[in-house]
Amino acid sequence: MAKYRGKYILEGLSEIPLEMERDLDLAYAVCERYREEFPCEMCGRCCHQARIVVQPHEVDRISRAAGIPLHEFVGDYLVRASDGRLLMRRTAPCAFLGADNRCTVWEDRPEVCDDFPYAASMFMSRVYLALTNGDADILELIGYMDDSWPCTRIIRDTIADRVEAARALRAQR
Ligand code: SF4
Ligand code: SF4
Repeated sequence: MAKYRGKYILEGLSEIPLEMERDLDLAYAVCERYREEFPCEMCGRCCHQARIVVQPHEVDRISRAAGIPLHEFVGDYLVRASDGRLLMRRTAPCAFLGADNRCTVWEDRPEVCDDFPYAASMFMSRVYLALTNGDADILELIGYMDDSWPCTRIIRDTIADRVEAARALRAQR
């Protein structure tokens, strides 16, 4: 399977066609702009989700940040899912969510936490679909987003204009 930027999985493709890559670049730019402009408000709401993926290269870093010995972190805090990925065992809320609703391993949090929601693969794929299908309604495509969260409210308030601007750029090619 092909991967865009090393993390967005493109099922059924062994490589990314050039035109598709250019569209993915446009969608990625929309997502990254959000991340640059609207940093997380650390409200802690997303830290109540059930599936928090930890990549193998993140295990040592997070255990050190948490001050938990590696063997204890692996045994007590992680579990291997049926698809082989490592997940946080203690979630809803995450074991590393502090009493003040702030992440206690913030600087070393998993990439999936850093990506959420602006660069999460679900959002990125919806932006890509909206860009490549001029009839698609981006607000419908992101209907799964709860707009009572600070970050997702920003997205829902602004995404339509940003997709339109990206479509205009795409039309100039
Ligand atoms: S819900 Fe959004 S604003 Fe709140 S902690 Fe998560 S990413 Fe940050
Ligand atoms: S690691 Fe931090 S940011 Fe990620 S879910 Fe846990 S508390 Fe939230």
